[in-house]
Amino acid sequence: MDTTPKLRLAIVGGGIGGLALAVALSHMKIDQEIQVDIYESAARITQVGAGITFWPRTWEILKDLGMEDDLVAYMNPGQELPSKMNPKLALCYRKSDGGHNIMISDMAFPGGSITFHRADVQQVLLKHISSRVRIYLSKRLASYHEFPDGIQLRFKDGESAICDMLIGADGINSVVRKGFLKKVYNLSEPEATEAVRPLWSGTVVYRSLIDSNAIRRSMPNHPTLGKPMTYCGKHKHIITYPVSQGRLINTLAFVSDPHAEAIHFEGPSIINPSLDNVSSFFKHWSKEVRCITDHMTKPSRWGVEMVRPLETYSVGRITLLGDAAHAMTTHLANGASQAIEDAYILAHILAKASTQGIFSPEKIGAIYSTIRQPFSNAVAKASLEQGRYYEFSTAEFEDVAEGDAVSQERLRGLAKEIHDRMEWMWNSSISGDVQSALSMA
Ligand SMILES: Cc1cc2nc3c(=O)[nH]c(=O)nc-3n(C[C@H](O)[C@H](O)[C@H](O)COP(=O)(O)OP(=O)(O)OC[C@H]3O[C@@H](n4cnc5c(N)ncnc54)[C@H](O)[C@@H]3O)c2cc1C
Repeated sequence: MDTTPKLRLAIVGGGIGGLALAVALSHMKIDQEIQVDIYESAARITQVGAGITFWPRTWEILKDLGMEDDLVAYMNPGQELPSKMNPKLALCYRKSDGGHNIMISDMAFPGGSITFHRADVQQVLLKHISSRVRIYLSKRLASYHEFPDGIQLRFKDGESAICDMLIGADGINSVVRKGFLKKVYNLSEPEATEAVRPLWSGTVVYRSLIDSNAIRRSMPNHPTLGKPMTYCGKHKHIITYPVSQGRLINTLAFVSDPHAEAIHFEGPSIINPSLDNVSSFFKHWSKEVRCITDHMTKPSRWGVEMVRPLETYSVGRITLLGDAAHAMTTHLANGASQAIEDAYILAHILAKASTQGIFSPEKIGAIYSTIRQPFSNAVAKASLEQGRYYEFSTAEFEDVAEGDAVSQERLRGLAKEIHDRMEWMWNSSISGDVQSALSMA
């Protein structure tokens, strides 16, 4: 019996995107026909950061890939399984920079949102990867070289490997994207070095996981003990939600410089621990907000960066997935969800190729990009705009300074803008995109 794989697929990067692709290929049993190798630079598979929100559209995928039961074990008290039948209170927005909280909106929608600790999600993903998938750790891709029949991957440790199709799932600072840009735009090395750099959105975020009991002791009825909260104000906002069965509160405090958008973030994009005192940015905000910021010990500070929009996610045998293709601001909480959507669509196209018995990396990548590039690029654009609405930074709120009162009518208009930019996350399904991809394959 011929055991030669029909395709050698290399996934560079074992983050949520790379792992989700391996899960989808395992679930669809394509790993029996193709050799799937994951090359991860870290010494162990780990997730930087804390919480992650999933929406009904993403949950549909996680469920279809058989992960629902395992994820349920990590749900927070009071959370229910996303169901499109029951509208659930999912997002609560307040204007809080004037010393107290003013209602913007309590948003309920079918399915609600569901929040997890990243490490829990990662454990579930790993559990669902077939043992045939080979995971190589401490393998940092340095460069790659294409030749007529394949690609040679060169790693920092001096070793190399060969594949037929390369999936760059190596995050915002993707090495694969650099070679990709060189090829698509015929760039020189210095031009590619510049083009691959992420753009800074003008925002930094202070992230912290707070012990829920600390909040409970200070403010027993603090709303975030039970639900996700977004506290909005001029050029700043705070998002909080419970994770890890309610034991921890995931906290993200955003501080923006509206004039700095679209330039590069200088210095390390993550500082940990930070010497900045987060409380000082929010000292005039509501008591609820101050209760949060006062408990943020040793937050890590991140530059909120994004990938310059790409015109395609695939060229020849090379395909980009997740943040490597479309790293976006966090304001729609959708980067990982988009990585999972990428993985799901790509796996379906590979599955169709498997039934046809022919794997053409070029064709597979081209179909994937046709479906995914317009969608994820649009999500990235909407995410940037959403952040501006959270922070009263759009043209219609130019007259509003920190702490200013804003009329109910204007706040209702703001709530509508926020709602309309998110509605697709619970009103649409990925199944139409799957069908479109399969019809092209
Ligand atoms: C503050 C914050 C909050 C967020 N909240 C949400 C949310 O609620 N919901 C949501 O959907 N998204 C959220 N996101 C976005 C989400 O975290 C990312 O979009 C997601 O992690 C991208 O996954 P990825 O696998 O594409 O990339 P990554 O998670 O960055 O994984 C890339 C992997 O590649 C490895 N790697 C890098 N370079 C190399 C190399 N040269 N060779 C080999 N391996 C390499 C890395 O070690 C890493 O493991 C948030 C992001 C931030 C910053």
